Parts: sequence; structure tokens; C-alpha cells
Amino acid sequence: MEITFLGTGVAIPQKNRVQSGVLVRLEEKPLLIDCGSGVLNRFPDAGVSHTEVDTVLLSHLHLDHVADLHPLIKANWLRGNTSMKIYGPEGTEEWFSKVIDAYEYLQEEVDVDIIELVPGKEFTPEEFDCEISCTAATHSVPTLAYRVTGEDGEFVYSADTEPSRDVMDLAAEADLLIHECSFPSGMKVTNHTTPSSLADILEEYNNEIGSICLTHFYPEMRGHEREAVHRLKEYFEGEVIIAEDLMKLEL
Ligand SMILES: [Zn+2]
Ligand SMILES: [Zn+2]
Repeated sequence: MEITFLGTGVAIPQKNRVQSGVLVRLEEKPLLIDCGSGVLNRFPDAGVSHTEVDTVLLSHLHLDHVADLHPLIKANWLRGNTSMKIYGPEGTEEWFSKVIDAYEYLQEEVDVDIIELVPGKEFTPEEFDCEISCTAATHSVPTLAYRVTGEDGEFVYSADTEPSRDVMDLAAEADLLIHECSFPSGMKVTNHTTPSSLADILEEYNNEIGSICLTHFYPEMRGHEREAVHRLKEYFEGEVIIAEDLMKLEL
């Protein structure tokens, strides 16, 4: 399993980080998790054709996680691929149709299947050799964290969340936890995570997770990356990685 970080940023523009997107290659087929602004243009940089993507998992409907989804569907249509399967939390169908309603020419050409998930749901997308499960993250809107289990390993994508026992339970014994880390330690935040708040919950979960990769950085995190690794290492024996756009991890 190969994981490529297409975007590791947030809603605020910053150098070298576009908004959220993670591409997972299982066997041959790629699965996209989130598709924020800038993610579509990362496909050529990552050496992957966007036309290969016909299955997307959305964690939630904030713009920094979905803004490039309709553009991806349009790009695929222009290249002859018209079908797309989208998994997401409650509200995904209504949001998707409201946006595509503004583009009648596109709506008539594409075949988009939306599957809304409830926390706890387990499923295998068609033509994929993996199992996916999800749980509710702690964020300002309905948000799902995902666990993807393939032949070579398993990882959890926390989505946007405060440190959450549900997310940590989902990540128990996973090879990799991709966790958001929006702001540096010392900042008072809700709906998001800092290295300190993650360290506090990690203390209870030590040894259960193989490694942790931090992502979803606000510009305020710039310059605080080493400090973040240091903080987590106080309670965590595995490797702590700072995600960069176009970084690849193998499981
Ligand atoms: Zn976000
Ligand atoms: Zn969000």
C-alpha cells in the first residue's frame, strides 16, 4: 500500500502546502481521501493520472476538504471518465447536488453515486481489495475518520478533529495514524488538535500504533514541526513524521 500526501494544508493559503488530500494506492487502484483546493493540480506532480480516480472518501464537507471534487469530476469527464463513487458523512448528497445543480451541462454527462455513511459502518468499495471502517471525529460539522485495511497493512486518517477516544480506538494497532495537527502547542483551540492535546491522549494509547504522521497544518505551525515531534515522542515510541505535500509512505 502506498500513501501519497497530495495536500497537507488548510483553508489558509501557504507556500508548498495545498489543502487536504491523500491518495492511497491499493494494488493498482488509487483511492482518494478528501479533495481540497489545489489537490487536483498535485496529480501530475505525484505522477498519477486523475482519470484513474473513480472512488473518493470525504471526511467532511468543509471547503478545504472538498473544493476540488467537482473540478476532478469535470477533468475526468473531459478525459472520457464519467463515473464516480463518493463516500461521505450525512449531508454529502445534498451538498453535492446543490453544487452540481449550478453546472447543468456537467450534471447531465456524469454518473455520480453518493453513499452516505454512518459512524461504525464497515464496507469495501467496488473493485477494491480492502476493508474500510469509519467513526465520528470531534469537529464542528459531521466528520468521519477512516480506517483502511489492505493486504499489506492498515492506517487511520483522523480527519479534522479534536483528540478523540473514538478516533484513537479506531487506530488501535494500526500501522500508521495520519492525524491532523492544525496548531502549535500552547494555542487554545477547539475542533482541532495541537501536539500537546494529542500527546495527552497518546499517553493512554502508547504501543498500540506503529507510527504517526501529522498533517493539516495551519501557517501558525510553521517552525514548530520539530517541537511537535519532540512533544509526541514523550509518550510515543514509534516514529513521528511531519507530512509534506507529495510525500509518500509505504505500508
Ligand atoms: Zn480542514
Ligand atoms: Zn474541517
